[in-house]
Amino acid sequence: MNEQQRKEQSKLRTGKSVDKKSSQDKPLSEKTTEDFAHYFQTTYQPPNINKARKRYREDIEVHYDFTIPDEMNSIGVDKNFLIRTYGCQMNEHDSETMAGILMQMGYKATTEVEEADVIILNTCAIRENAENRVFGEIGHLKALKVEKPDLIIGVAGCMSQQETVVNRILEKHQQVDLIFGTHNIHRLPQLIQEAMFSKAQVVEVWSKEGDIYENLPKARHGNIKAWVNIMYGCDKFCTYCIVPMTRGKERSRRPEDIIQEVRQLAAQGYKEITLLGQNVNSYGKDFEDIDYLFGDLLNDMNKIDIPRVRFMTPHPRDFDDRAIAALAKGGNLLDHIHLPVQSGSSEILRRMNRKYTREAYLELVRKIKKAIPNATLTTDIIVGFPNETDEQFEETMTLVEEVGFESAYTFIYSPREGTPAAVMEDNVPMDVKKERLYRLNELVNQQSAQSMQQYEGNIIKVLVEGESKRDSEVLSGYTEKNKVVNFKGPKSIIGEIVEVKITDAKTWSLDGELVTKTTEVNENAKIHT
Ligand code: SAM
Ligand code: SF4
Repeated sequence: MNEQQRKEQSKLRTGKSVDKKSSQDKPLSEKTTEDFAHYFQTTYQPPNINKARKRYREDIEVHYDFTIPDEMNSIGVDKNFLIRTYGCQMNEHDSETMAGILMQMGYKATTEVEEADVIILNTCAIRENAENRVFGEIGHLKALKVEKPDLIIGVAGCMSQQETVVNRILEKHQQVDLIFGTHNIHRLPQLIQEAMFSKAQVVEVWSKEGDIYENLPKARHGNIKAWVNIMYGCDKFCTYCIVPMTRGKERSRRPEDIIQEVRQLAAQGYKEITLLGQNVNSYGKDFEDIDYLFGDLLNDMNKIDIPRVRFMTPHPRDFDDRAIAALAKGGNLLDHIHLPVQSGSSEILRRMNRKYTREAYLELVRKIKKAIPNATLTTDIIVGFPNETDEQFEETMTLVEEVGFESAYTFIYSPREGTPAAVMEDNVPMDVKKERLYRLNELVNQQSAQSMQQYEGNIIKVLVEGESKRDSEVLSGYTEKNKVVNFKGPKSIIGEIVEVKITDAKTWSLDGELVTKTTEVNENAKIHT
């Protein structure tokens, strides 16, 4: 369907004439999308938030036929690429796909900007400061583009899905050759081809909800832990959030495709997977032909011989009994649950359109703790939502204490153009918001430190990921509950799950001593004693 849409739009674009002169005479503030239309010479459809808001009941198509055009197959030989990723795990994983596609085209990865022939900024639109950082980076790249005119600079990800961002880049940042959206990653070879041979900036952003593209190559970061997308998009429309507009509608991958991918990862020796989705536990709700939900997928994951399975991010509203029952079985399903609450006030939650109350959230927590007594909970919280009162903020503080979150991602509300909250009047001054964030962080730090204390003297399992960033003599890894552990040991145990005795608990990490002793037998085999 998208391919069809692309072809139709492509036919349309040649028939459209725009009065370039009159549009150029207007000041930027008065320009409309029409005025920018002449830039969209290679655009199949300008991004449009209002269209993205509409959810059509069209079938989602799953495509299994990804190929790179012959003429692009080795275009990257002796050339380098660099992808800079901003934002969430979903973006990290999209970057792995882009890297996989570029490597199939012959490009090699580099970390040096000066060595790159293709630079892609994979962007995040969730808060204003994330966007500002990207525009800063685009500005820095201007000098390099002047020095190296053949360099291809691309902007991808959630920012590209916003019309205002695309217009701003087209108007002010001529050094950007290519803008493409979250639904267009599979078209990267063709887009690079157009950018190489076209004189104009290339823009391809589909507002449509998106199909599913299987079999895209992936260059995964490391060989110990892997991300696995299980669904895409979001239909929740929280009033503060841009994601439903940038990521399209909720659509689940077929179970057999996920199971096959995880089996392959297990066979390749990966030790941990994280199932990914904007609302990972809404998985399966869009299937019309099968009754197969997130709980069923968890049960199937539990049958695969991979030591650790995590998931990010579940929505409280969709946390059903089937999922809780599956998690309660344990096995490779870890008992760390990241459950974003956003606010402890039912009134703020109502205005956020979260579709649950404080009481419903607490009831869900009770249910989870009853079924999984050792469950660890962490969360996301927004402070300073428009007109949040002191009392409503205090409700967030008491909820954090009552649940006993062991850590939290905390944010000051950031207005996002095109979202309902952005036009709400806001009487909360920024210094009050900052003060609330500070108090909340103090509480979260205190709870994190307390949770760490309980490990002192205990022996816990750690998946060893590599050398610590601060000291190459020290190894670093994660516990089942996602706590960082630093300890000394031989490099040969990187990638293994080992036992570590905790000697010192800090606020955000644990220090320990290796209990499992590893004797190297030869290069490939190790014996644990
Ligand atoms: N889908 C998940 C959920 O609803 O729980 C979260 C995904 S969202 C990409 C990650 C987090 O960013 C949210 O949980 C929220 O706390 C934060 N966030 C989203 N929009 C925001 C905004 N406009 N201002 C501040 N924080 C925001
Ligand atoms: Fe954003 Fe809400 Fe969707 Fe999470 S559930 S991605 S916060 S709209």
